[in-house]
Amino acid sequence: MISNNDDTIAAIATGLSDSGIGIIRISGRNAIEISDKIFIPANPSNRLISLEGYRAAYGRIVYEGRTYDEAVALVMRAPKTYTREDVVELDCHGGVTVLKSVLELLLNMGVRQAEPGEFTKRAFLNGRLDLAQAESVMELIHAKNERSMNISLKQLSGRLSKTIKVLRETILTRTAYIESALDDPENYSLDNFSTELLNDVDNMLKTVDKLIASANDGHYIKEGINTVIVGRPNAGKSSVMNMLLNEDRAIVTDIAGTTRDTINECINLGGITLNIADTAGIRESSDTVEKIGIERAKNTLSEADLVLFTVDGSEELTPDDVEIMELIKDKKSITLINKNDREIIVDKLLITSKINTEILEISALNGNGREELASLIKSMFFSGNLNTDNDTVITSLRHKALLIETRDALSRVKDSINAGMEEDFFTIDLMAAYQSLGLILGEELEDDLADKIFAEFCMGK
Ligand code: GDP
Repeated sequence: MISNNDDTIAAIATGLSDSGIGIIRISGRNAIEISDKIFIPANPSNRLISLEGYRAAYGRIVYEGRTYDEAVALVMRAPKTYTREDVVELDCHGGVTVLKSVLELLLNMGVRQAEPGEFTKRAFLNGRLDLAQAESVMELIHAKNERSMNISLKQLSGRLSKTIKVLRETILTRTAYIESALDDPENYSLDNFSTELLNDVDNMLKTVDKLIASANDGHYIKEGINTVIVGRPNAGKSSVMNMLLNEDRAIVTDIAGTTRDTINECINLGGITLNIADTAGIRESSDTVEKIGIERAKNTLSEADLVLFTVDGSEELTPDDVEIMELIKDKKSITLINKNDREIIVDKLLITSKINTEILEISALNGNGREELASLIKSMFFSGNLNTDNDTVITSLRHKALLIETRDALSRVKDSINAGMEEDFFTIDLMAAYQSLGLILGEELEDDLADKIFAEFCMGK
């Protein structure tokens, strides 16, 4: 790995914007000693080098007679820290210039600027967290909704890791038994062993399959559902958008897309996140299909997990509607029959005869149908009941891929048993499953892969 665990690292751990306080985090062998050189406590008996762990001191950051900031220093002593190394946190004022100059000071004193995720990487390398837990830290930071946050917290507490460890223990016990029986046939019998192993393998496959199945839910919980609202002019697209934004407008982000005016809005609908694409086009254009062009509409659509096809229910279908249906016929869609505060005359059967879609009557104007829409989306996208308190949910593609490898290896064991192969044939595939599961926890992980995983982290974490 690039980092050398002997050195002391530091980073600004809070966001780089003007704020009340900003924290600089320092970790490593010399963290306390170096911080002590620049921190003058108001009470002289509170020198950082003599401070007990989990104590804070108030003082000033001073170097060569110049005061950089007033701060509170928090001392945490190894091994009871995030990284299991000595850690100091300097709570400074949150100005970007202040934080950068204090960090600069530390760097001049031989501290190294931490790489993104390096604190968590040290926590992993020093055995405080396994890799699945470490990854959940990043997911927690990036959580877009409460459900995603809960899953990350559960994973951080070790729930997924525990399931994986139980599987690995079963595999190891069984493999060890085969090895012993082959070495010492007089004392270890392999009679009936295959039947017992088959039973174990079936149970393990059930657990693994369930985890893999949860990955689909996990993906949508974590990333949100890419949604696009389409419809002819005046069908009520903007009103639908407003209805969706109406209540718990969670996060609004301006993410530069492929085109200048692409804007994504993140909407929290009944605890699920909808990433609504291309709302700029939808809002500004009076004729989405014509103005943004069929090609561009297709591009936006190709990325979409869900299309909300908005139809003016108080009128007959028009050629525009038909044209849009042609565009979305292969997508997962919900047709919103809008304006049901008026008399609905549109021919719903004609719609369902042209596209495979769910139909929902709403009134975007008075917000009628919002909850029904949320439940409909849930039933279309999630297999579980989304009870993140009880179920372990896989949110990482890396974990999913390794679980699929595990499933394949276990299936091969099953095939060998059913084909009546000799016991020593089983061990190769059992060990392959064992290793794939181990990689989820970060065992025998290649250095460059660990670097890659941690490089996705935020600075200072
Ligand atoms: P867009 O062009 O598809 O974005 O449509 P708008 O959202 O701008 O709506 C077009 C017109 O339909 C506006 O006058 C809205 O007030 C009206 N409208 C939208 N939704 C409803 C609804 O549920 N009921 C009624 N009665 N009018 C609606």
